Amino acid sequence: MLPEFAAYRRELHQNPGLMYEEHYSKAMVEKKLTEWGISFKSGLGKTGIVAIIEGQKNTSGKTIGLRADMDALPIKEASGQPWVSKIDGKMHACGHDGHTATLLGVAKYLNETKNFDGRTLLIFQPAEEGGRGAFAMMKDGLFKGDLKCDAVYAYHNWPYMPIGTAGIRPGAIMASVDNFEVIVTGRSGHAAYPHTCIDPVMIGASLVMQLQTIVSRNVPPQECAVISVTNFNAGTGAYNIIPDAAKITGTVRTLSPATRDLVEARLKEVCKNVGVTYGTEIQVTYDREIDPTINDPKHTTIFADAAARVLGNENVYREIEPSMGGEDFGGMLVEVPGAYIRIGQAVSAKDSPHNKSLHNSGFDFNDDILPIAIDVFAEVVESSLPLK
Ligand SMILES: [Zn+2]
Ligand SMILES: [Zn+2]
Repeated sequence: MLPEFAAYRRELHQNPGLMYEEHYSKAMVEKKLTEWGISFKSGLGKTGIVAIIEGQKNTSGKTIGLRADMDALPIKEASGQPWVSKIDGKMHACGHDGHTATLLGVAKYLNETKNFDGRTLLIFQPAEEGGRGAFAMMKDGLFKGDLKCDAVYAYHNWPYMPIGTAGIRPGAIMASVDNFEVIVTGRSGHAAYPHTCIDPVMIGASLVMQLQTIVSRNVPPQECAVISVTNFNAGTGAYNIIPDAAKITGTVRTLSPATRDLVEARLKEVCKNVGVTYGTEIQVTYDREIDPTINDPKHTTIFADAAARVLGNENVYREIEPSMGGEDFGGMLVEVPGAYIRIGQAVSAKDSPHNKSLHNSGFDFNDDILPIAIDVFAEVVESSLPLK
């Protein structure tokens, strides 16, 4: 299957679409599914597609969902590959082209063999890169009615691990992503007369320092949390004017709902009370963007065992470290139990595009992991829904 699906992957790579603009990928997926006689539903989350494959029988009454993301990033490609993006300023720098091609391969294989007792849903998701595409698909009926799933699985290509390996862990594997915006209201005036002003720069500076005490003094040391202030805007450019406000924004990452609640609550309290301390108001807008990706222990074992049958048990790491990066798939795992695995794609040639970091302009998905990922997904379906 490798030559066929590598060709599809490269075609997808040349025609990237940003969040909710995955029109080329959508049309290509629909065309292939139609060609192979697989039924599907389109338009879940605008550009999302769900294909449905019935097994040889369905005495189990169970349905397994497999998910691939399809969107690209607003990055000018510098991979130097022959299949470089045709669209200037857009590229598949996270390998979602490869995830889409993988799921097409799984679709073709499962449709030809139907070696399982139950149903399989192939979930082609838009807008993983900050567009909450998983949530949009669920809002449009994914996991409801005839799209109900008993388990859902997804993978990410992983350029930080060598090809031929995979990594997973029970519990949190990717972090929650929340963003905050803080407005410090001051009173502007002459910088030589600070006692007549309320200085939002000084208050903001104090606040930035105080926020880090949430991680060091409130979050239990065994738990993980990140607060990063990434923007601090204030001032007119003049040396002698105290400005009237400061705007501070940043991101919060955690690995559990309890820590997430704690950090949100403390962040709001610290802002309010720093405001009280300095005699002004500090307003906070706190947006929960992405849920932590929490692997269910039972489904983690199913996924790891499937990977072990493909790669050898010694090449599957079952207790890898979680990442503080976010993954939209976490939202699906809130609704349906399942698991998320990393499949290594790094090669020995050090400067290879397959070894570049995700979201790097020089990155390229490694087509040699297509058969691995297709095989692992097929193993998950066939071992979870065995024909007796
Ligand atoms: Zn990404
Ligand atoms: Zn990604």
